Amino acid sequence: MSCAAADARSAKNVFSKTFDVTYSVEMADSTDGIFDEAVQWVRQNWDPDMTVGQWWERLFEASYSLPSLPVNAYGRGYARADEQAVWRAFAEVGALGPPVGIATMMAAPTIAQHATEAQIEGFVPPILLGRQAWCQLFSEPGAGSDLAGLTTKAVRDGDEWVITGQKVWTSLAREADLGMLLARTDPGAPKHAGITWFAFEMRQSGVEIRPLTEMTGRAMFNEVFIDEATVADDAMIGEPGEGWAVGNTTLMFERASLAGSMVNLPYARSGSGAGELDVRAGDSSSREDGRGGARPRDVSITSWYLDAARSVGRETEVLRDELVKDHITAEVNRLTGQRARTGEVKAIGNLGKLAMSQIARSQREVGNLAIGAAGMLDGADAAAGPGGGDVQRQTISSPAPAIYGGTDQVQRNIIGERVLGLPKEPGPAKTTPFKDLPSN
Ligand SMILES: Cc1cc2nc3c(=O)[nH]c(=O)nc-3n(C[C@H](O)[C@H](O)[C@H](O)COP(=O)(O)OP(=O)(O)OC[C@H]3O[C@@H](n4cnc5c(N)ncnc54)[C@H](O)[C@@H]3O)c2cc1C
Repeated sequence: MSCAAADARSAKNVFSKTFDVTYSVEMADSTDGIFDEAVQWVRQNWDPDMTVGQWWERLFEASYSLPSLPVNAYGRGYARADEQAVWRAFAEVGALGPPVGIATMMAAPTIAQHATEAQIEGFVPPILLGRQAWCQLFSEPGAGSDLAGLTTKAVRDGDEWVITGQKVWTSLAREADLGMLLARTDPGAPKHAGITWFAFEMRQSGVEIRPLTEMTGRAMFNEVFIDEATVADDAMIGEPGEGWAVGNTTLMFERASLAGSMVNLPYARSGSGAGELDVRAGDSSSREDGRGGARPRDVSITSWYLDAARSVGRETEVLRDELVKDHITAEVNRLTGQRARTGEVKAIGNLGKLAMSQIARSQREVGNLAIGAAGMLDGADAAAGPGGGDVQRQTISSPAPAIYGGTDQVQRNIIGERVLGLPKEPGPAKTTPFKDLPSN
């Protein structure tokens, strides 16, 4: 089936019970070919009796783990739209997806862009094989939006660096084998020029991780205290002082990925601590617990809400209008996100990320419109109520996208400066050494 046909089918499934709407999405011919080739490959290779590890090895050997990586970094050099076509092929066959997470979203593409061939060879395969999970050690108590103000220091000692400082809001730090660490290597250099990017081993003495409980009730993120931990010189990605540029590549991949929502595929957890490599791939891909049993591609959040509204007899004209608006906005953002690597539009990742956080809030409103007063139910009552608790989960997590990956205000600043050419915010001269800047 062609990609355009698959998308049209998805759209029809979402709306057909209520709206007689079918639309098609124009895709380049090359994307159709890539989808067809991938479907054929997945059909020939997917075997639910393999272990997760064996399936991921097979993907790796065929360069299907993360096809948007360059060819010299175990990818196929595909554009984002082409990579999405590959994921649609996985969904079409019902196969377990590749390793996903911070490692594939940010670490591997950053390393592919800035590292030496030897570093690519050392760091990328364990990510694509799902053997290592990563976290992002950027934010600090005094450096979030003002990331270049970070104070975690790295001091060279022979052929290694000694790291001391504190990171915060580090998602999935306890599950991570490695962290993308930004540290200050030259306090005498101007703020943005004295930072370096390291691949930092999380499981070593001198690293203490304390979970932080969020308002969702989960403790996904953490504080990370680092006291004279070490990182080898050859785990430095880029040159000393190039960390701002390397870190911006990481952020660009983060924002572009967050903006262009992924095809929902069943997935297993990566990393040495997850213990999922030996699980039967077919069992993993059929789990319905929110880990393996992800929502299939053609069951969008819109149709979930529609079903929930139907179950309480609230399928009103107003709701339909809002659902359609939401669905269209999300689709436009998804398709815009697929252009992220083409360079056609400046700051496209920032635009998409900003739109994504607005979509999350709008979906929250529509979800609550759909289920009405039941939106106030919690815990087991919510699970037994309309929507099975999804609206409540979406409601409580909806503020987060406006903060992570850079806040909405920061995205607007960047768009203002890079797209509209507005003047930069006033601040200390770019040439002032970091150590001479005022601090509180
Ligand atoms: C769910 C979640 C997961 C996260 N995961 C990670 C992670 O894995 N790794 C990591 O490193 N970080 C992570 N973060 C941290 C995130 O990147 C920061 O919270 C974010 O960059 C904002 O920084 P801050 O919290 O220090 O807020 P601040 O920078 O103190 O901002 C406070 C407020 O001031 C506004 N503001 C600040 N500066 C400006 C300005 N110049 N112009 C206009 N408004 C401004 C902000 O928009 C915000 O509203 C995560 C955050 C969340 C919510």
